[in-house]
Amino acid sequence: AKQAGKNRAQPYAPHMQADALARVHLEADLRMAVEQRAFELHYQPIVDCASGALVGAEALIRWKHPERGMISPLEFIPVAEECGLIVPIGEWVLREVVRQRRDWLARGHPPLRLTLNVSGVQFREAGLPELVRTLLAEFGTARSSLVFEITESVLMGGSENVEARMCDIKEQGICFALDDFGTGFSSLSYLKRFPVDIVKIDRSFVRDCPDDRNDATLVEAIINMAHSLGLRVTAEGVESAEQREFLRALGCDYLQGYLIGKPLAADAFEALMAPLRSA
Ligand code: C2E
Ligand code: CA
Ligand code: CA
Ligand code: CA
Repeated sequence: AKQAGKNRAQPYAPHMQADALARVHLEADLRMAVEQRAFELHYQPIVDCASGALVGAEALIRWKHPERGMISPLEFIPVAEECGLIVPIGEWVLREVVRQRRDWLARGHPPLRLTLNVSGVQFREAGLPELVRTLLAEFGTARSSLVFEITESVLMGGSENVEARMCDIKEQGICFALDDFGTGFSSLSYLKRFPVDIVKIDRSFVRDCPDDRNDATLVEAIINMAHSLGLRVTAEGVESAEQREFLRALGCDYLQGYLIGKPLAADAFEALMAPLRSA
């Protein structure tokens, strides 16, 4: 049977080799990118749903590849997670956000809530709480108003360790948001069990709202349930005014999506904040 399986697999072998090769190249390039800091953070605005006021931004990583141009994090983050490079990359992201926040505050911009994505691999790294402590001390932001976005898969691991680690990080003034909410497994029980502050409704549920009755019902249920647990809700991927009005009527707390604004390079995002400085 083994022999037959081997034979059957043969026609695919060239493709698999090509894939594996591309993968090796990507990993090597990524290693170089980490050394050369070939990354950038873009910032996507997050607004208060009721008032439309700018309240924060999500930092999203960009990789400027010397030959291929911009490579999406959807392509390289999974590779970075598998080969462990996500740890130095994640450290760079955290340092960059904390530094950026300090610089914006120093230039008189309002204290926005900056959120960043923390991979499960990075979250489980022993040194994370200490790194947070060091960076916050180095960049002197007392109450930091940073938000770590994690996914349900992070919570699925060893529960006591995860909870203790979350508490350690929260003691330093950092909030947690549960990203891509609704796409994972038993989401509801996690909300009760872990010290999460914000739920981010995944874009896939917002996309067909309010026309798709199932999605609309689900979004309403998530908002009500999160509120009854004392959590706040951010809707991701808001692209139309109709979606915004629908979410507003349901009492959603925050909105993020192309309707509000696309992710912007740091200086472009700063220009967006500039009118607020004097206000
Ligand atoms: P995510 O955390 O769910 O981030 C939201 C993604 O949706 C971003 O894609 C954003 O540009 C996109 N988006 C925002 N609004 C809209 C909209 O209205 N319509 C549509 N179609 N898309 C919208 P991006 O920047 O390509 O990032 C993709 C994923 O890569 C992120 O998904 C996150 O999982 C991961 N990622 C990005 N930056 C980092 C990072 O610094 N660290 C880690 N660990 N992961 C990151
Ligand atoms: Ca996110
Ligand atoms: Ca998300
Ligand atoms: Ca996502």
